[in-house]
Amino acid sequence: MTSPPGAAAPAPAAVPGDPAPDLRVPASLLPADGRFGSGPSRVRAAQVEALTGIATTVVGTSHRQAPVMDLVRRARTGLAALLGAPDGYEVVLGNGGSTLFWDVAALGLVREQAQACVVGEFSAKLAAVLTAAPFLADPEVLSAPYGSRVLPASRSGVDTYAFAHNETSTGVLTPVHRPAGADDDALVLVDATSAAGGVDVDLAEADVYYFAPQKALASDGGLWFAVCSPRALARVEEVAALGRWTPASLSLPLALASSRKEQTLNTPAVVTLALLVDQVEWLLAQGGLAWAAARTAESSGHLYAWAEQRVWARPFVADPAHRSPVVGTVDLLAPVDATAVRRVLRANGVVDVDPYRALGPDQLRVGMFPAVDPADVQALTACVDWVVERLA
Ligand SMILES: *Cc1c(COP(=O)(O)O)cnc(C)c1O
Repeated sequence: MTSPPGAAAPAPAAVPGDPAPDLRVPASLLPADGRFGSGPSRVRAAQVEALTGIATTVVGTSHRQAPVMDLVRRARTGLAALLGAPDGYEVVLGNGGSTLFWDVAALGLVREQAQACVVGEFSAKLAAVLTAAPFLADPEVLSAPYGSRVLPASRSGVDTYAFAHNETSTGVLTPVHRPAGADDDALVLVDATSAAGGVDVDLAEADVYYFAPQKALASDGGLWFAVCSPRALARVEEVAALGRWTPASLSLPLALASSRKEQTLNTPAVVTLALLVDQVEWLLAQGGLAWAAARTAESSGHLYAWAEQRVWARPFVADPAHRSPVVGTVDLLAPVDATAVRRVLRANGVVDVDPYRALGPDQLRVGMFPAVDPADVQALTACVDWVVERLA
């Protein structure tokens, strides 16, 4: 749980052999909410409170009846409105998250050969899925050093161009554009897991914009959503006609048929859906994607300027044009010990600013999704200043 502003922080837990001293950050410096994870990410308290309103009318009731189907409908129409889906685009959903959708895409969207831009751990995983698929030609892999990016580039023979709008492991943004010269029926397949709802996008440039709801959309895990263009819907039919063996749980035609009935193939994560709908409708009421994008730009603008102004910090992504507005990565330079800084922050209730797995151990990685108040990002950097000064 989070502490209200000004509440006393929990006493730092003593860890045997911990090099970080018992530092208690003054309550006046602490953010109102200390969760800065890049996914799962901060869920607003009001979203969780809203669950009590459906506790006995929707939660624990049949997903084949109106109350849950209405949640699915609100998710689909709300997402189409928030993301500005052009006419003819459809929002498809299913169980399993973005990792599962990679398998869905390999089975149900790629005709023969994809191109995959690899700029971090998540985009590398999709490239691995495409490479391992025995029914596809090996993908053409374009890679950039982590912290930088490579743009998709048209090539004859490629029927699907895959890249991540926001590479969550490195904090690198790749703009969503159809590569010039791509075949007319080629698909632009965009992993928008940590971007959708927090970064501006023109969906006319994408054919499949897919994501899971536990990142920029402040929900919980367990579902995937894919906003599909008419070109993508035609490809689903075309690939289905190839007769590739496809498990029902990974079948796009079945997911599409269920989604059109405001359902999922099997039982959905209803609470995840409810949290998502609340956040999508909240974002729409605040001013939609333009409002959300301005808010994340304000948060990230502060974080990067702060890092540039410190001799002991530096944005991990060198080129400002590549820097993500929703996931900020900042290197802490010697002699500052990033691990000790993160440990003190966690002991004070400021959590999940850890780098992605082994990537950049000297890093802070900060989720700045629309649920995060820019004032909390300012408080976070003030806390880091305070901790670094005391650890010196
Ligand atoms: C988190 C993430 C995924 C994996 O999402 P899951 O729902 O956990 O499977 C995939 N791609 C990107 C860009 C992500 O940030």
